[in-house]
Amino acid sequence: MYSKKLFLFDFDGVVVDGMNEYWHSALFALEKFLNSPDIVIDQNLYKQVSNTFIEMRPWVKYGWEMLIIVHEIIKSENPLNSNNKSHFQQKYHQNCQKILLDKHWVSEDLQKCLDKSRKYQIDKDFDNWVNLHKPFYEVIDFIEKIKKEKIKTGIITTKGKVFAEKILEKLNIFPEFIFGYESGTKVEIASRLSNEYEIIGFIEDRKKTLFDIKQNDDTKHIPCYLAEWGYLKKTDKNNLPNEIKLLNLKNLEQLLAI
Ligand SMILES: [Mg+2]
Repeated sequence: MYSKKLFLFDFDGVVVDGMNEYWHSALFALEKFLNSPDIVIDQNLYKQVSNTFIEMRPWVKYGWEMLIIVHEIIKSENPLNSNNKSHFQQKYHQNCQKILLDKHWVSEDLQKCLDKSRKYQIDKDFDNWVNLHKPFYEVIDFIEKIKKEKIKTGIITTKGKVFAEKILEKLNIFPEFIFGYESGTKVEIASRLSNEYEIIGFIEDRKKTLFDIKQNDDTKHIPCYLAEWGYLKKTDKNNLPNEIKLLNLKNLEQLLAI
């Protein structure tokens, strides 16, 4: 019999490093599904992830924002680069909204373009697509260990559920729960789950999400861990409140001793 204990994990930057895939899928979405007169897609762009994109990734919350970032990086006039990126980061959310308005784009449509890009690649060559992700094997081992302890696993991600599910299947991981962006915010999901389960931990690499969990009455009791191996901003490790613990891959095992 399984107990009612549940451990929650974010997906991108916690279970897998998908940097290659984000760059690849966002580029392909721009090339195939979004007509923009401001860009020309050179096939060489696919060969290497832009450093500016890597530097911007910690600011990204939803997949559709990656289309905006990649579009900004490859556009011919006044592109986003390492010189002007801090300016963009300072007002990241407002800048994304401004671009949506200027370009007459709708975030839901951009998300659909990204999802179509992923689906197209999966249908065409699944192995090629799935291999763009690098698993964090220490986390995979940890998920297997908690299963032996009869603790359930839940993955909550801001990508589409179906995509996380396919990657996890390939890794031979079958969590009891996978929730994608379709299921609401992470706080809402964690709040619903905590009605039925004792949530004994949540590992996430987006500090703001952990703050949101700690500020909500229904979820503030959940032990929160910031994944040091994920996509962190340089300042994320500074001034962490006591209730959010910084976790590295070597310390994962210690969580089982709690
Ligand atoms: Mg993440």
